Amino acid sequence: MKLQEYRSKEILARHGVPLLGGEVATTNAEARVAAERIGGPVVIKAQVLVGGRGKAGGVKLATTPDEAAARAGEIIGLDIKGTTVKTVLVAPAADIAHEYYLGLILDRAAKAITVIASPEGGVEIEETARTNPDAVLRLALHPLIGLQPYQTSRVAFFLGIPAALRKDFASVMLGLYRSFVESDADLAEINPLVVTTDERLLALDAKIVLDDSALPRHPDLEAMRDLNEEEPSEIAAREAGISFIKLEGTIGCMVNGAGLAMTTMDLVKLAGGEPANFLDIGGGAKADRVAAAMRLILDDPSVKAILVNIFGGITRGDEVAHGLIEARAQQERDVPMVVRIVGTNAEEAAELLQAASFVTAASLDEAAAKAVAAARQVTA
Ligand code: GDP
Ligand code: MN
Repeated sequence: MKLQEYRSKEILARHGVPLLGGEVATTNAEARVAAERIGGPVVIKAQVLVGGRGKAGGVKLATTPDEAAARAGEIIGLDIKGTTVKTVLVAPAADIAHEYYLGLILDRAAKAITVIASPEGGVEIEETARTNPDAVLRLALHPLIGLQPYQTSRVAFFLGIPAALRKDFASVMLGLYRSFVESDADLAEINPLVVTTDERLLALDAKIVLDDSALPRHPDLEAMRDLNEEEPSEIAAREAGISFIKLEGTIGCMVNGAGLAMTTMDLVKLAGGEPANFLDIGGGAKADRVAAAMRLILDDPSVKAILVNIFGGITRGDEVAHGLIEARAQQERDVPMVVRIVGTNAEEAAELLQAASFVTAASLDEAAAKAVAAARQVTA
């Protein structure tokens, strides 16, 4: 889960990273009030989860509250890489002498939290890594002892941090490291970290990406989720306890278990079709979750046929069959459906499905072939 800049800054500030906080606003009027409260020049920044906001016109300076309101008006409603800006951050503007990049990532190959640093800040680090790899330092941290003072010094020297600011830089790095570890992040970056003309270090932009699997440990961070920036289908899936990823094909798949879902997608491809989604209804799914999954699949207009593949262990076949029957009764669009249910209560399921005239299949190969054929017929 990606956190907005102002949320990421809240976390960094808690760990002592120096920055100019500011206020969020969703209207021109709110931006004006925020600028009045701050006093002096401000920067207005689009709060969207994509990079390169500056280039896209999502970061603007203003010297008066009137100007702040006008700039906010230009940014709110702006489309940045497919996301409409709803919120801006109004923060005191900084006078920049130099911009640096400082980030931490979880490097799975190195099996370690790794520092990425560059004296060429402000621009995207991937760009610098490509055009000028010597300007990027990568430094793996020990998984048990963590960030060491000698490493902080090494990064400071590499970046060319002014001598008078090296102590402050050490506390920025430690703050970034603590933010990363304590929030179970996958990435935490400050870009740019700046030295101001009056010789202060400040984090001007921040981005934290959290590990979704660790979110249950952090209800306070989960509450920072920005629903404005998530696909409605993904929100609905999460609320129903379903793992769902939309894909480009025409065969909607409903499966229990991630491994079985992958296999099902493979067999759809083998039969000459393309899956429209990955969908795992999870273990022990009840009828209501099956119905929710069906709604998710049918909400995608490119779905031409549905393949249901259930292996009943804890999940009971008859429960799934009830869910399917209920879902079809509510369904607004008539889409052919092929069902394969084996395992716990498969016989009861077969009876229910037969009585409701569902198309069933005994094997997964057969089910995939039937679903692909049905989708072709619809398309033809
Ligand atoms: P991004 O483009 O989405 O990464 O947004 P940033 O917050 O990093 O801003 C982009 C650029 O705008 C920075 O690299 C700075 O050059 C500039 N910028 C951001 N905040 C300020 C500020 O307070 N003062 C000045 N002078 N420039 C700023
Ligand atoms: Mn930035």
